[in-house]
Amino acid sequence: MNDTIAVVGGGISGLLLARTLRERGAKVVVLEKSRGLGGRLATKRVGEAVFDQGAQYFTAKTDRFAALVEAWRDLGTAGGWPGASAHRWIGKPSMNALGKILAEGLEVKREAKVLSVRRVEKMWEVEIENQPTLRVGRLALTAPVPQLLALLKAGNVELPTEVASGLAALRYHPCLALLVTLSGSSLVPTEGLALSDGPVRWIADNVKKGISPGGAAAAAVTVHLSPAFAAEHYAKTELELFPMIEPVITAWLGAPVVNVALHRWKFSEPITVFPEPCVWLDELGLGFAGDAFGGARVEGAALSGWALADKMGT
Ligand SMILES: Cc1cc2nc3c(=O)[nH]c(=O)nc-3n(C[C@H](O)[C@H](O)[C@H](O)COP(=O)(O)OP(=O)(O)OC[C@H]3O[C@@H](n4cnc5c(N)ncnc54)[C@H](O)[C@@H]3O)c2cc1C
Repeated sequence: MNDTIAVVGGGISGLLLARTLRERGAKVVVLEKSRGLGGRLATKRVGEAVFDQGAQYFTAKTDRFAALVEAWRDLGTAGGWPGASAHRWIGKPSMNALGKILAEGLEVKREAKVLSVRRVEKMWEVEIENQPTLRVGRLALTAPVPQLLALLKAGNVELPTEVASGLAALRYHPCLALLVTLSGSSLVPTEGLALSDGPVRWIADNVKKGISPGGAAAAAVTVHLSPAFAAEHYAKTELELFPMIEPVITAWLGAPVVNVALHRWKFSEPITVFPEPCVWLDELGLGFAGDAFGGARVEGAALSGWALADKMGT
C-alpha cells in the first residue's frame, strides 16, 4: 500500500493542508504547476518594479487564522498595510512570501502541471506534464473547481451525484490586473482605493504599500478591473486595455507611464461557495479544498485546507 498523499495546488489551502498532514506524520507531496508558490497570493516583478497582482491584503477573523498570521508577523513575513486600518494584513516583503514560508520543509514539485488523475486498483495515478506519473494512496485537489473537475474528467473519475452537481454549479469571477509602472510618484492613496462603479474596482501603489523599491520605478500601480469588464474584455491585450482604462485612472496616476503589463485571472474569486468547508470522499481517498469551499478570501482558503486535513486525519 502506497501511503503517500498528493496535494495538487500550492496555494494557501494546499500548502496548509500539506503542512498539517505532514506535522501529523503523513508523507505528502505538493504538485504545483507554476514556478512560484502561493497561487493567487502572487507577486510579479516587472523591471525594477514589484507588484502584488492577486490578493491585495487579507483579514484574520477566526482565532485559528489570527494565530497563524501573528506567528508570521513575529517572523517578519506579515505586517499591516501602511496607513490602513489595523485589520488589513499583507505579506512581507510581498504577498508571495506567504507561499514561500508555507512551503518550507515540504516536498514540493514546482512546474508540475497535473494533466489527469485516474483511479487504478484503489490507488491514484497522477499524470504530470513532462514528468513521470505518480502513484499515491490518497489525493487532495485544491485548484479552482473548474480546473479540478477537468482533471477528474480527463481520468474518467465519477463523483457521487450530489457532490458532482454541487461542484458543477460553482462559478468564478474573472479579473484582469494591469501593472502600471510610473516614472514619478503616483497620487494613489497609500491605503489603496476600492471603486464601486465602472471598469476599475481597485487601485494601489506598491511603492507606497512598501513592497516595491522607489528609484527608477517611482510608482508601481496595481489596477484590478471589475468582474463585468474583465468578462467582456478578457482576451484583450494590455495595449488594447490601457487606453480604455487610462481616462478612469488618470487622476490617480499623476506621472508619466513607463510600462503596462497584464495578468489574467480566469478564476479570481468564487461567486458562490460550496455548502461545506471541504469535501472528503473516504471510499475514493479523494478530497477537495480551497476558497470555493471555505469562503472566497485568503482566510476562507486557509480554513478549508485545515478542514480537509482534519477530515483526512493522517
Ligand atoms: C485579483 C485578485 C484579488 C484578490 N483580492 C483578495 C483580497 O484582497 N483579499 C482576500 O482575502 N482575497 C483576495 N483574493 C482571493 C484570494 O487570493 C484567494 O481566495 C486565495 O488565495 C485562494 O487560495 P486557494 O489555495 O484556494 O487557491 P489558489 O491560490 O488559486 O491555489 C491553487 C493552486 O493550484 C495550482 N493549480 C491549478 N491547476 C493545477 C494543475 N493542473 N496542476 C498543478 N497545480 C495546479 C495553481 O497554480 C495555484 O497555485 C483575490 C484574488 C484575486 C485573483
